[in-house]
Amino acid sequence: MEHASAPLSTAFGNGVLHCFAFGPHEEDNILCLQSGDLQPEVLVRVQSACYTAEIFRSTDCDCHEQLEESSRLIFRHGGVLVYMLCDGRGAGLLTKLRGLSLGATDGLDTYDAYARLGVAPDPRDYSRVIEVLTFLKVQSVRLLTNNPRKVAGLIDGGIPTVREPLEISPTDTSIAYLRTKRDKFGHLLDGLESRRGNDNE
Ligand SMILES: [Zn+2]
Repeated sequence: MEHASAPLSTAFGNGVLHCFAFGPHEEDNILCLQSGDLQPEVLVRVQSACYTAEIFRSTDCDCHEQLEESSRLIFRHGGVLVYMLCDGRGAGLLTKLRGLSLGATDGLDTYDAYARLGVAPDPRDYSRVIEVLTFLKVQSVRLLTNNPRKVAGLIDGGIPTVREPLEISPTDTSIAYLRTKRDKFGHLLDGLESRRGNDNE
């Protein structure tokens, strides 16, 4: 694993961007944006790439909003934003688009579309995340997530972790995707229905 880092000024504040290269390709990299000196218990967001929302600003999921909100929180309180450069929950953008295409033609949600394609519903592996957090001397984590699988991934890797909820108000276009996350992926989105339509409050 190779490592480089440099100061980075962002819209949210000034931090340090680390790049950890695990192979020759861009998607082998894990990025970490660090804000402040790390406390014994560190606020962390582990975001896996969602090019459709983060680059093309798709409104069909909440990924862009989750990234912005966690950046705000991490620069406010100090912490690390870990970014995994692989779209489609680790399955890649090609698979993700094939799944979204099945959604458009056959009405499948992202869980059933992956099943139809013969892909595990959430093939993400957090071993590299464990490696970079260990490199940064993170001892325990408050993890910004609604995904119990991510919490378990860090705990299984030997980092004591508790969850910090990160709920984004749903929109008319993201509600179906968020219900799938809640009902089929086990995401903890208790406030989903009550938060609906509260965007303007
Ligand atoms: Zn997304």
